Parts: sequence; structure tokens; C-alpha cells
Amino acid sequence: MDACGSPPPVKRNRQSPTDNEDSVGIRAVLSDEYNEIALIKVHSCQLETKQQLQSVIQELSQKLPRLQHLKRVHDRNVLICPTSDIGDAETLEEHLQRYAFSTNVLRALCHQVKVVEVPARMPKLRVQYEQMIQHWPCKFHPNHYSESLRNGSNFSISQRIFHKRMAQLLARLSRDVNKDRPVGICVDPRQSSIVSIAGTSESYSAHGHEHCSMLLVDFVARSQQGGALKSDLSFVEDGEKAETTLRGLPKAYYDYLKKNEAYQDLKFGAEVSRKCQPQQQVLLNADHSQGADNLTKYGPYLCTGYDVYLLQEPCLMCSMAFVHSRAKRIFFLRPSDNGALVTRFQLHAVKELNHHYEVFQFTTDGSLT
Ligand SMILES: [Zn+2]
Repeated sequence: MDACGSPPPVKRNRQSPTDNEDSVGIRAVLSDEYNEIALIKVHSCQLETKQQLQSVIQELSQKLPRLQHLKRVHDRNVLICPTSDIGDAETLEEHLQRYAFSTNVLRALCHQVKVVEVPARMPKLRVQYEQMIQHWPCKFHPNHYSESLRNGSNFSISQRIFHKRMAQLLARLSRDVNKDRPVGICVDPRQSSIVSIAGTSESYSAHGHEHCSMLLVDFVARSQQGGALKSDLSFVEDGEKAETTLRGLPKAYYDYLKKNEAYQDLKFGAEVSRKCQPQQQVLLNADHSQGADNLTKYGPYLCTGYDVYLLQEPCLMCSMAFVHSRAKRIFFLRPSDNGALVTRFQLHAVKELNHHYEVFQFTTDGSLT
């Protein structure tokens, strides 16, 4: 398998880490449901009199209850059913006869039938709603958080500054420590503390483990007394009675940051894993979507509640690894040819998965690369 992303040619940039902070933006990568105005074709009829309205709506809502996100009647036009519900070999009237409508209602439904295009689903954002109602009135439940993701107001100023700093750190670590290859950083956002750092490595050549995301997940597991990969890297040792553990941090990255004055204020370490009782472990597995709440209650478990920062958009294998390890949010800096979050696919938008993380992409004017 190809490694996650092939890094583009690197332009050297010797500015200090804070010089170009304003050149970094953050955008939420939202699924198509937040962007598209999807329409479907629906049969509609026109009522001859207002008196028909009550009986028609009553029978339709009992017998053809779909289209609940739409206003069923608009200007005496009534939505009956999507055209896709009608078989190739039948007419609308034949289709409706299956549902045993009363004679009067059936006649009303077959009067001045036409096909109209209406919203396929309820809008997620106000901007979609305003466009969708041009086609047909629909329901809309405004969601403040969804709107904030779209307009970028979901992060506080201090959170935004931290995220941007991580973007700069990715570029810097890649350039100075990992020979311009991809790197990833895992952070516990409750303390803004760096739990683990990993870089794409030639020394893990089998089974795709050279991808920095796979290594990162494994190094996070090291901070929880786990970790499956044999490593020839040196990791930071914990002092006696340490309240946090640095075991997920390879020494090369940690030493580089500790020696650099610009990074003296960075926090490192993961909360020490508390041994769960079997009962708690079952609860935790069943309740993993609670993210940071579980992190507080049970202590670290894989990447639950953790944020992941990646230089390159992860491939499908790595994106799935973050689903399995329950990451909270993924931030990445550069799109990858085989990326599975925005370039080829939107893994985080697949409803059938049992865990979903949020995805953000850093946007830059190029000065970070
Ligand atoms: Zn990968």
C-alpha cells in the first residue's frame, strides 16, 4: 500500500513558529449533506376544492407517510409520492389503488397530476434551507453547532491559536526531525497536552505500519501500557510517581522540542491509564461515543477524546484506524492523493460506521510548506 500522501516539494522557511500564524486557517470538512441541495421528483396533484384537504391529508399521512420533512400541501398542490416508488409497468392510479384509498380521495389524487422537484431531505444549514424552500416548503431545525462549523465560529480564539500552532509544529517536525516525511501529533485537548508524536518511518516497512497514523495509534497505546509494534526508536521514560506518562513520545521529537526555546510552553504527557474493572470496560466499549466524558470517567482508552493532527490527509487504512481507536477530531494540513477524508472519500460521513470523528483541514497561503 502507498504511504499516506506523497509530500510535495518542500520550500524552506526559516521564520519563527509564530511569524506566520495568521497565514493558517481552519475549515471543517463537512459531509455532502451540509453542502448539496439534493432534490427528488415527486408526483403531485391539485385539489379542486379546499373541502377535500382534510380527508386527502388524513389518508395520505396514514397510507403514504413518507416525505415528512416536507410540507405536504402548498398552494393547493399536494405531494403524493416519489416517482421512484412507481413501478415501470404501472400508472400512478394503479399504484395508489394498492393502498385502498377511499373513492373520493383517490379521485382527488388523480386530478391534474404533475411531477415536481422537491428537497430530498431536511436541510442541515440555514443557507440550504433558504435555497430548498425555493423549490418546495420544508421543515428545518436550526442547529447552532452545525452553523458554527460552517462559519468557523466553533473554536474560541485560544483554541484556534492552539490548533494553528499544531499545524506549524507538524511542518517544523517534518522538516527538522523526519526528513520532510509526514508526521502526526496526538493531543489530549482537556489539557492541551501532547500525548504522542509519530512520523512516517522506513523502519516499519511491513503491513503499512510505516504510515505515521498507524504508528501514532500504536504510540498512543504505548502511553496506556499497550502498543503492538516492535520499535527500534527510543521513547521517553517516565520519572517515578509521574502523574502523566511520556511513554508515547519518541525521544527524537521530544528532545527537539525541549531544546527549542520557541516550544518551552508546550505541555506533554497523557493521563496515566487507570485499570478498568471488567464491568467498566464493557460500559466504555458500549458508550464510546461520549468521548471526553468517558476520558474523564475511565481514563485514557485508545484515542477516545483525543485530537489528532496530521501533516498529510490520511489514507483509508489510517482513517479507519482512527475510527477503531475512537479519535475525537482529526486535523490535517495537506491533502493526499490517496486521502480518505476529503480527496477520494469522506470516511467520517459514512453513517454505518459505529464511531464518527470531526474533520478539519488547515488552509494556508503556502508559507508553512
Ligand atoms: Zn495511511
